[in-house]
Amino acid sequence: MKETPLRQLTSFLDTKLSITDFPNDESSNGLQVEGRDRIKRIGIAVDACEYVFRKAVTEKVDLLFVHHGIIWGGIKAVRGIVRKRISMLLAADVSLYACHLPLDWHPELGNNAQILKLLALKKMGAFGEYHGKQIGYWGRTKRPLSVKAFTAKVEKVLHTKTIVIPFSGHVRNVGIVSGGGWSAIHDAERYGIDTLLTGESSHSAYALAEEMKINLIYAGHYATETPGVQAVGRLLKKKFGLVVSFIDHPTGL
Ligand SMILES: [Zn+2]
Repeated sequence: MKETPLRQLTSFLDTKLSITDFPNDESSNGLQVEGRDRIKRIGIAVDACEYVFRKAVTEKVDLLFVHHGIIWGGIKAVRGIVRKRISMLLAADVSLYACHLPLDWHPELGNNAQILKLLALKKMGAFGEYHGKQIGYWGRTKRPLSVKAFTAKVEKVLHTKTIVIPFSGHVRNVGIVSGGGWSAIHDAERYGIDTLLTGESSHSAYALAEEMKINLIYAGHYATETPGVQAVGRLLKKKFGLVVSFIDHPTGL
């Protein structure tokens, strides 16, 4: 079984994912908890939480790569859930690496770039400003599709159930922002977008979408943020020959 020093792996990830380019991200991106020195097995997951940590320990994972880590805006106190989570990792000597906004944005491995690919949309450009950076993409279907046909495709490729609020009769130009990206609707008119695909629903988007005649497709925060971690997992397996397992813990939300 192949192994890689922790430092080598984390510096590769830091560079590849451009994590220093997102100083305004609340997430402390990069190595959040340091474990053992040699990495053979990697676990990938969307959320760092007790369920995922338990699975990681059972599967003898050396490093866990997640989209939502455990350190947001710095540590204020190590007690309660924070204490429990950190002590679980330290006791098992497992490292935790988190990558939040850079993994939504990344042009190749990112959630939005991966969704674009899964839906076979032609990449048209960046879309959806968040904390001063466009983290999403917009793409075009080969030909205009019905909302029903496009939604069926979304559900199939992302293994999810959608909430659809249709205000346009067709789907052609699709804006994609994974997770809680509904506010990207403000940029939609500028690019002639007729459909906004994001993770979580929001009441606030309704009237805007109605007046802009834009379809809202909510495909789930979890489901729209699994493609990025999975792409990173495939890359680490290929580049370092490590054993990579996806720890699935869907919320259905
Ligand atoms: Zn998220």
